[in-house]
Amino acid sequence: MAFPVPRTLSPSKVTTFTDCALAFRFSAIDRLPEPPTVAATRGTLVHSALERLHLLPPADRTVDAALACLDEAERELRDHPDYVGLGLDDEQAAAFRDEAAALVRNYFRLEDPRSVRAIGLELMVEAEVDGVRLRGIIDRLELDEDGELVVTDYKTGSAPPTTHERKRLSGVHFYALLCEELLGRRPRTVQLLHLKEPLAISTHPTDRSTRGTRRTLRAVWQAVERACEREDFRPRRSALCGYCAFQAYCPVFGGDPDAARRLAEERAAEADGGGEGVPVAVGQAGAAGADDPAPTLAPLTPSPAS
Ligand code: SF4
Repeated sequence: MAFPVPRTLSPSKVTTFTDCALAFRFSAIDRLPEPPTVAATRGTLVHSALERLHLLPPADRTVDAALACLDEAERELRDHPDYVGLGLDDEQAAAFRDEAAALVRNYFRLEDPRSVRAIGLELMVEAEVDGVRLRGIIDRLELDEDGELVVTDYKTGSAPPTTHERKRLSGVHFYALLCEELLGRRPRTVQLLHLKEPLAISTHPTDRSTRGTRRTLRAVWQAVERACEREDFRPRRSALCGYCAFQAYCPVFGGDPDAARRLAEERAAEADGGGEGVPVAVGQAGAAGADDPAPTLAPLTPSPAS
């Protein structure tokens, strides 16, 4: 029996599939639970703090205000399973908070938030492109000084080496394509703000880069469909295995992928069906998660407050 084909493709799914097809299967098809990690939870916290910062009037977006936003976001996160699941003791919790604060401070070394004219924060976007349902969350959509769209993605982990420049920008090109499909306007700029280094990388989408993004997404989708049909998701050992939550099921580490399948089937039976969540065309993702229904995108005009 073939594997069910996932309903949507997101930048993280594309990356997971190209890094290791078997990890993609465990995550996107078997939907095995992944324990929370300090890095991912810290990323969630920093994203939430920066979202709050950009909801403030431009003149109020100071470092102190950003740290207050971080405090607020942290208070909210404390009861979340992703934070509770980390099981941090007091010392570890203080280190977690200090590292998040360092990332927030670094953000101010990359840009002056008072000049940012955001029209959407943590925007969930979904559209069908060339027969593939694409989905993702744009950290920030804004207007530049000429009223052109800019897509910004915050990164809280280490930046990949410069030799991986194209790969690291592929996620923002994905979002540029989604914006173009949904809003009828191609963003002038897409940028990555790596908060750890800190390092800003930006580029301007073109006809050529858009064609390339479409081609890549079609190729990945066809490969996913083929792998599902043939039940052929191969492991790919790499340095990423050290961070993989699925080692127990991976044959490279002596695991049995069929055990993951059985577990997935049991979970599906228990859940009495289930799916991939509620599709939303364009919305604003709430702090509780990406599947929250949400208001629509702000109009593409600068806000008076900006
Ligand atoms: S442990 Fe490595 S090879 Fe195995 S599924 Fe994870 S990333 Fe792939």
